[in-house]
This record gives sequence, C-alpha cells and structure tokens, in this order.
Amino acid sequence: MRSIIDIVDLSTDEIDALMQTASDIIADPDKYADACKRKKLATLFFEPSTRTRLSFEAAMLELGGSVIGFSDANSSSSSKGESVADTARVIGCYADIIAMRHPREGAPYIASLYAGIPVINAGDGGHCHPTQTLADLFTIYREKGGCNDLTVGFCGDLKYGRTVHSLISALAKYHNVRIVLISPDELRLPGYIKKEVIEKNGMEYVETKSLEDSLPELDILYMTRVQRERFEDLEVYERLKDSYILTAEKLQAAKPDMCVLHPLPRVNEISVDVDADPRACYFKQVENAKYMRMALILKLLAEKDEPEADGAEDFVESELLKCSNPRCIVAVEQELKHRFKCTDKENGVYRCIYCDAKAK
Ligand SMILES: [Zn+2]
Repeated sequence: MRSIIDIVDLSTDEIDALMQTASDIIADPDKYADACKRKKLATLFFEPSTRTRLSFEAAMLELGGSVIGFSDANSSSSSKGESVADTARVIGCYADIIAMRHPREGAPYIASLYAGIPVINAGDGGHCHPTQTLADLFTIYREKGGCNDLTVGFCGDLKYGRTVHSLISALAKYHNVRIVLISPDELRLPGYIKKEVIEKNGMEYVETKSLEDSLPELDILYMTRVQRERFEDLEVYERLKDSYILTAEKLQAAKPDMCVLHPLPRVNEISVDVDADPRACYFKQVENAKYMRMALILKLLAEKDEPEADGAEDFVESELLKCSNPRCIVAVEQELKHRFKCTDKENGVYRCIYCDAKAK
C-alpha cells in the first residue's frame, strides 16, 4: 500500500506525472468529475488547519467522491487515549484514503503502517507537509514552464520553516537549480540540510542577509514569516524584521518575470501593495494545491491494489538508541519501539524512522 508521508517518497518522474495530471484536470475538469465516485476520503485532523482540510475536501468533492472526518483531536477517540495505530485501523474500515494532520511528528507514518488504505500526510508538527511542496513545485512549473535551470531565493525563517526544507529537498532532484538563502544569522538554514541535501546533490548555493541585494538575480522568491517568538533577544527582532518584508518598492529591483511564493498565511512579510503585481503568485499557489491534491488522490487510489515495489523498510533497533525529538510520536506512545535508519555511515548518524530526528 502506497502512502505519501514525505516529498522524498515521490520520484521526480512521479512528481512530473502528477503535474501533468493536475494540468489535465485544469484543462478538462469534467473528465474527472466522477473519477472518485463512491470513494471516501477521511480527513483526520488532530490539530485544526481549516484551509488545508478544506483544500483536501474540495479536491475529493471535485473528483465526485465524498468526505468524512474530524477537525480537532477533542472530537476523536485519541482524546480518550487511543493510539494512532488503532485510530488508523478503525478509519481504514470506513474510508478509501486518509489525509492526516497531527501535531506529533511521525504520526501519519504510523497510521500508514496500520490503516490498510493509503495515507497522505497533511502536516505532522514541524516535520513534513508534502502536498504543500507539491503545490509549490506545480506553481513554479506553471509559471516557469518547468523546475530546471532556476535561481531560487528563500527568505526569512530558514531555520524552522519546514516548507523551505521540503522544497529544497524536492528541487535537489531537478537540474541546475541554484539556491540563495536569505536570512538573519539567527534563522539560517540548519547545517544538516546544507550537508545532506544541498551539498550532497551538488547544488550551488549562497547565504546572505540582504533581500534587496539578492532580488535582481532571482527567478523565484519564496517568502516565509519571521516570527517574533523565534528570537531570544527582542531587540534583534525589532532591528531585523523590516528588512525581510517584501514591498512594491523593493520589487522594482526584481526581474520582470520573477515569481513570488509564500506558503500562507502571511502576516506582514509581504506588503499588500505587492498583491496586484503579476509576479505575486501566492494565491495561485492555493489553487494549485487543490489540483495537486486531486492528482495525488487519483494516483494513490489507482495504485491501491498494486503490490509494494520494495519490501519492508530496513531499520535498526537498539537499547542504546533513542529518538532525541520531544515532538516525536514515540515520545507519547509508550508502546512504540524506537527505530532508526543509518543516514551517514561514515559519521555513524542514525535518524528516527518516524520523525527523521537524530538518535541520542
Ligand atoms: Zn522520532
């Protein structure tokens, strides 16, 4: 049974095929209006995220399917202490496919092991949100005609921004993508992503603090929010915050066909005077997300009866290894065994199979 937990679960060929399907849906929506007739999507949202849930629900309804589910943990049995595995087993009896959001990292992966139906991760803590990345890629593809040969700037909170980490991992599979990392020192991209993703894939990159200096060379600008609570010293925040706000005035220095993306919601990091500029693509991203979710639902339901390509995932279990991440699902579900995969043999790095955090 195929589930999508992380964007890296999909090959570039598969992502390209999903983008083809999404383009075809846009061109001829009637062709897909009954594609999921009598199929049910369960939206299991253990934490509220109304817009992601509505996007999944709209996607399934436009495919002619129906939707069941809940939108916060208090209305599910997990509030009575039910494990994610048991919830997944039960829902697997009612529905054909699950979209799950959970505050605990690794929870959708656990669900995928027990549900017996495909599971799409709709966001697990700070870990993964693959359909957001599919929406980002599809927006780049539609605006630029492809995802190769681009200079992509990431601006703002590159330390905690999971959408940034995930999009960089996805772009690493394309050709000749140059990365410009624009952030204050406090919020630079974590070293392990530079090492294990950017350098490992031979991507060219630069780090800078200046949005204004970087703008002229960018084909894509991916904006994120710089959150006040990320700073220990509020004076530093006050000094920096305005330099990472995109305004119509700053945008004058950018290429006429640059494209501005943002995972939304924005607070003030893109001034509203940018909205009318044809380079502002962040609301198109929202629409593109729905089409990519439609394409993904179709793919997973079509592949449901196919045997799995390779066998069970290799993992290591040892008394000496424990997941270091307090937000991991293993931190709350005592029955779960800590399991790891070796990601760097040379330096003996083991990462949790649920949340990808390092073992301690
Ligand atoms: Zn973990």
